Amino acid sequence: MRVLLVEDSVALADELLPLLARSGYAVDWVVDGRDASVRASDENYDVAVLDLGLPGRNGLEVLRDWRSAGLPLAVLVLTARDSFADRIAGLRAGADDYLAKPFHPDELLLRLQALLRRRHGQTNAPRLVVGALALDEERQFVERDGTVVALSGAEFRLLRCFMLHPDRVLSRGQLEEHLYDGETERDSNVLEVLVNRLRRKLGREVIETRRGQGYCFTGGT
Ligand code: CA
Repeated sequence: MRVLLVEDSVALADELLPLLARSGYAVDWVVDGRDASVRASDENYDVAVLDLGLPGRNGLEVLRDWRSAGLPLAVLVLTARDSFADRIAGLRAGADDYLAKPFHPDELLLRLQALLRRRHGQTNAPRLVVGALALDEERQFVERDGTVVALSGAEFRLLRCFMLHPDRVLSRGQLEEHLYDGETERDSNVLEVLVNRLRRKLGREVIETRRGQGYCFTGGT
């Protein structure tokens, strides 16, 4: 899933970028609020982590820009510790959740997972569940009928994307938009190889090929 990190603290970004990458997110980082406003309209992000105090344009204004442009991305706002006013203003401007600085990076990850699950109509926390499959996002494996199936990092990223969009036809382009950051070259052969590997591990029936349209993840149900 694609994350836009908008944060002007280089130290915090240095801490978060590798952590988010290890957790299977494709992350783009911007520092300036004006860039953030434009960037989110140009690319198809699933979620933004948005600091409020930014150069160029403050985070609340950026959030209002995104919402008035009708952008559907989920937004987690980073606020100053105990700033009640910031939290209220953020929620009013269309934030989905907030986190007060300083925070433990694990809390950010858990909130992102929960936010994405909620966005995609999954409320049965703590795991992402489709049919007989339950995805463990922290340890990056999937359970099928109680049996643990190990996943590579790339398989995990694709399966998470499928499980957040069950029973929907996703074109290759849509899948690639969710899987790769702005820097990574997209190669549809890689996608096909990964789909086949997931089928071998989980059963052919979990992912249907729709000729000329893309793939539909059914979870085997
Ligand atoms: Ca800041």
